[in-house]
Amino acid sequence: MILSYIYKLRPSGSQSDKMESWLNMLRSHFNWCLADRIETYHQQFIQGAYCSLRTKAEADPLTCCIVKNGATGNPWQNSGKKRNAGTIQDAGLVELKAARPWYKSIDSDVLQRNVARLNTAYQNFFDGRGFPKFKNRSNFRSFEYKPRRVKFNENKVYLPKIGWMRFFNSRPIPNGFAVRSVTIRKKTDGWFMSVRLEDKSIPLPPVLPTFEIKTAVGLDMGLIKLVHCSDGSDIPNPRFATNKKTKRTLKKRQRRLSRTKKGSRNRNKRVAQVAKLHLIIANRRNAYQWQVANKLVKKADAIVVENLNIKGMVKRCKPKREENTGRFVSNGQAAKRGLNRSILDASWGELIAKIEYLAAKSGKVLLKVNPRHTSMECSACGHIDQANRDRERFICTKCSHIDHADKQAARNIKQKAVVEYGLKLIKVRRDSAEPKQLSLFETPSTESTVAIRRQSGADKGKRRVPGNLARQLELFSQDI
Ligand SMILES: [Zn+2]
Repeated sequence: MILSYIYKLRPSGSQSDKMESWLNMLRSHFNWCLADRIETYHQQFIQGAYCSLRTKAEADPLTCCIVKNGATGNPWQNSGKKRNAGTIQDAGLVELKAARPWYKSIDSDVLQRNVARLNTAYQNFFDGRGFPKFKNRSNFRSFEYKPRRVKFNENKVYLPKIGWMRFFNSRPIPNGFAVRSVTIRKKTDGWFMSVRLEDKSIPLPPVLPTFEIKTAVGLDMGLIKLVHCSDGSDIPNPRFATNKKTKRTLKKRQRRLSRTKKGSRNRNKRVAQVAKLHLIIANRRNAYQWQVANKLVKKADAIVVENLNIKGMVKRCKPKREENTGRFVSNGQAAKRGLNRSILDASWGELIAKIEYLAAKSGKVLLKVNPRHTSMECSACGHIDQANRDRERFICTKCSHIDHADKQAARNIKQKAVVEYGLKLIKVRRDSAEPKQLSLFETPSTESTVAIRRQSGADKGKRRVPGNLARQLELFSQDI
């Protein structure tokens, strides 16, 4: 089983300067490697010895010394296998350090992982996603150490070529987990490291086969309420970015930013202010979504959501033109903008991703169903009509079944999953106990855990904690 824990680092001034300079060097190295691969690819076209990217055809070493999307060089390894672009660029690191000695200050593993990062980007492209992009300061903010290079000692971490660095040991590493790769990332509010932990002895919880699913809950995502569940409960939408107060603050700060001169110190300050607000919004939303996801996953064996196309929902309206003059006329985009912002603020996709993660971790399943007609269909008689729905109210035009529109939709979503996946659900009484949750591994309780910290604070007399067990027992044993 693989986990990923994130800790905040506490670098010294010189350490953060060093990491900053590493980022700059690594970014230009990444961009150089990408340019190199693109150039080589085009050269192969010109030479005529083009080795297709997609067919993975082998080049003839006599006529073409250039490998598929790679740098120029010997195309064969000693073992007889063909070198790929990544291994060639890895081998070029020695040359790079000779020509630009300041690259010697970077750990060589980190440089190799930087090439590997480009490999991954190319692999994604071959899998049908976008072509790798050149990076600028704002989208290149991390570097990675290979497994077993980084050492831990209580609240200090050893990063090769940077040294021992303090960090906030906010959560203990579970027993039996070994540290794999470590990624250092710069964010608006400082430096963070995300640590991949692995324990091979713990298998991933088995995915529940469809015939074993006993309970299911349908979720309908909305804006007035974030989630409506098929069991009748709902979860409010706090609108972290689009509530009145935050919108006003953001507008003000952005206006202040836009009035500063480009390249001035004041501008940097204003940029930081805007970034800080965005960070606060994102943090609040993330924390809330984890809470909500945890709550939802505990509801049933299977969690059913609609397969939403959020990208399509927030698309801009098509431009409209007057037929005879060809002039552009209003297309309603101005009115849609607010709705789009609300949709993006609710970020259903991220919530669903979190539910999926937690479901996988606790041996449950997330099912996706086709969103077609879920809000128009009557759950009592199955009649589909757009007129069934009157904003929040649902009144069936055929059987006059009355319901809350979104709860009705949530019930439809659950029903769809029953049909599409062939579920055999059992009836659960409303007042029955919550289903037992699966626990996978023990996390040691060290002094860093909140409960113990609170307790030790209470012991020192700093704060009184209600329900202090030791104190209660003491009172109990007194003679009255
Ligand atoms: Zn009906």
